[in-house]
Amino acid sequence: MPVPARDEVVVKVAAAGVNYIDIYRREGKYPVVLPGVPGAEASGTVAAIGADVTTVAVGDRVAFPDNTGSYAEYVIAPARLCLPVPAEMDDLTAAAIPMQAMTAHYLVDGAFHLNAGDTCLIHAGAGGVGLVLTQMAKSRGATVITTVSSPDKARLSREAGADHVLDYTDFATRVRELTDGTGVDVVYDGVGRTTFDGSLASLKRRGTLVSFGSASGAVEPFDISRLVRGGSLVVTRPSLFDFVVDPIERAWRWNTVCDDVLSGRVSVRVDGRYPLADAHRAHEDLAARKTTGKLLLIP
Ligand code: NDP
Repeated sequence: MPVPARDEVVVKVAAAGVNYIDIYRREGKYPVVLPGVPGAEASGTVAAIGADVTTVAVGDRVAFPDNTGSYAEYVIAPARLCLPVPAEMDDLTAAAIPMQAMTAHYLVDGAFHLNAGDTCLIHAGAGGVGLVLTQMAKSRGATVITTVSSPDKARLSREAGADHVLDYTDFATRVRELTDGTGVDVVYDGVGRTTFDGSLASLKRRGTLVSFGSASGAVEPFDISRLVRGGSLVVTRPSLFDFVVDPIERAWRWNTVCDDVLSGRVSVRVDGRYPLADAHRAHEDLAARKTTGKLLLIP
């Protein structure tokens, strides 16, 4: 059993979320402190609190997207990271939404402000972020084009509300055709290296590329003058962690995604539940593009 410092709590993990960032960290693409326990996201019940903690109590149900060491039966968390889980929400849903749903939320309301009438392109439309992002974009009145790699994923993406579902082959040309030659207002690109060029080519004049991940590998350095040749384009590379630092913004995003899920406006697909001991298999399946929606580890 870990022992909390004065401002920390111990959480008995109900489920730990698996995210692409866990793979980047395991592979050493992002820095980690070793030896260490993987995982950033979990839901669970507070089992012990430090002497100075006043915001959560033993027995409270909490969740977080941005802790360290969540692939565990018990994990230490700073009290300030603990998000309250609504009584009506089950533990698995609470573990499935902190990272992917809050990411989708800041992508439509933060990194870019998606408005009714906008058209967006979302890569990996059947992935964990992709399915939620599609629903949030539709609920804001946007037209949604997605890319996916298989017919099953295409069906899921359509069920989530995508207006047009493409495979990756020459997708920029298809996007131009679908937008009468104009291009889209924004591309949400979590695939990275293999889609970057096509994403830039899919944008309308003064469009924005939100490059938020690199499932296919890191984006290569590029010549900034490509942005003027494309029509005064904007590229941003955001992280959720910069959109949940301020406690008021953090609470607002969390309460909003909880309301979206509890009201049924956004449905969350838990595609895989793995025993904690099989964490390696969850990573392999995610990296091999075998999965859709959310993967959870159950201690
Ligand atoms: P997903 O469930 O979306 O899985 C990744 C998907 O990417 C795959 O299913 C696959 O879908 C697609 N893909 C395309 N090319 C490759 C490739 N070469 N190797 C592997 N996958 C590929 O994962 P997540 O929802 O967990 O994350 C999606 C992205 O969002 C990741 O890049 C992640 O790092 C990023 N992210 C960024 C955050 C931020 O704040 N910046 C926060 C959270 C996530 P298909 O087979 O249909 O192509």
